[in-house]
Amino acid sequence: MKIAVIGAGISGISSAFELVANGHDVTVFEKSNAAAEGASFATNGLMASSLMQPLTLSASEPSHWNRFLKNAKPLSVRSGMRWNDLQWLWQWSKYGNTETLTASIQNLRALYAYSLERMRSIASHANLDYEQSNGQLVILRTAEDENMLRPRLSLLKDCGVEFQILSHEQCVKYEPALSLSTEFHAGIHFPNDEVANCRQFAMLLKAELLQKNVDFQFNAKVKGIKTTPHLSILLEGDNQARPFDHIVLCAGSDTPMLLQALQCDFASTSICNYTLTLPIRETTLAPRSAVLDTKTNITLHRLGQRIRVCGGYELGADVSKKHKKTMNHMYQVMEQFFPGAAMHQAGSQIFKSSQLITATGLPYIGASRVAGLWINAGHGVHGWGTACGSAKLIADLITKKEPEIGALAFQRLGY
Ligand SMILES: Cc1cc2nc3c(=O)[nH]c(=O)nc-3n(C[C@H](O)[C@H](O)[C@H](O)COP(=O)(O)OP(=O)(O)OC[C@H]3O[C@@H](n4cnc5c(N)ncnc54)[C@H](O)[C@@H]3O)c2cc1C
Repeated sequence: MKIAVIGAGISGISSAFELVANGHDVTVFEKSNAAAEGASFATNGLMASSLMQPLTLSASEPSHWNRFLKNAKPLSVRSGMRWNDLQWLWQWSKYGNTETLTASIQNLRALYAYSLERMRSIASHANLDYEQSNGQLVILRTAEDENMLRPRLSLLKDCGVEFQILSHEQCVKYEPALSLSTEFHAGIHFPNDEVANCRQFAMLLKAELLQKNVDFQFNAKVKGIKTTPHLSILLEGDNQARPFDHIVLCAGSDTPMLLQALQCDFASTSICNYTLTLPIRETTLAPRSAVLDTKTNITLHRLGQRIRVCGGYELGADVSKKHKKTMNHMYQVMEQFFPGAAMHQAGSQIFKSSQLITATGLPYIGASRVAGLWINAGHGVHGWGTACGSAKLIADLITKKEPEIGALAFQRLGY
């Protein structure tokens, strides 16, 4: 079948890969001049199958509310809030009594397991070599932080997540460059989490796709999707729409806008966050893998010869406006935990982007209300970790192949 994929981020590229593997003729339309220029450009790289990542799933756990009250907010609210953001915030804050949260955790973990397996299989078959490290250390500054996290930890344990609580000394053994002068209470080690370079993986997959004759159209902004006389795509600057048998929407934060024109709602919002990428100054002073500070929601990790710092989650923000205080704070936290490891802040690559997130924290992977139009979006903070599995799922649904994991959990469009 002739299939169009809108968006060449990690979701679009991996969807194209699986569609080609299922025998389809694929064209990818991307408004930028290169692949992985949106949220997939400089992600935190975490493949946190433990789901130990800021803004995962619901805010309804006591730990989140305690943090709001203590002013250690997981999310900063900026002045550009719209009705849609408020709706999301309300739904996000109340979604998830223990029962629904447990189901969400299980579904997201199943998608993760499927994704990681698929990613490894693709990488080994295609000989893809990308930057990667194993394990995540979550820092608890105080005993109170540990108490606040207990409900989440016990839920994760019930859902089969492996972890170990480490003393201060054990943390330093695990991450030898952790500053001895930074006081903290303990750490939790998640051995099955990973860090890998999302953009690098996307570019390697794209190179594979070029060899398989996938047509990549860059600087090709989709202006609209037409349903009559047949399903087709209208590009900005074109006066004739291009027909396809199926269209897969992988347009990240722009997905709801493209759907709105077809009277389809996608209950979600866009959340912005930042990464700073700094060249390593002294290797022995740098982190080994990922370290998350639960007090600030800032994650640090090693990416080849660089350190990447991620944080500064914002709602109602303008993606083009970088908040200097937030970036300085991210740099300070890195210096606090790994002093002298990186070059000066002035030499850092600063990246801010938005990611589409649903109130349940689960992505949407499935058909839209328009025949032939499919959606693979709303992955929030787990879009890299779950990309390969989501792509295989959408490609199998389109091809009418029996999906290898349950799809229903990822097919809730409204609140
Ligand atoms: C700073 C940051 C750190 C992150 N860290 C992690 C992490 O550690 N682990 C993790 O799992 N996830 C992480 N995420 C989330 C993850 O990056 C995203 O969920 C994922 O990249 C989404 O991929 P995507 O392809 O759906 O969207 P995008 O990468 O945004 O791609 C969408 C593409 O569609 C294109 N497009 C949009 N509209 C149109 C149109 N009309 N016509 C043509 N093209 C169009 C855009 O240009 C873009 O290239 C992070 C996100 C950010 C912003």
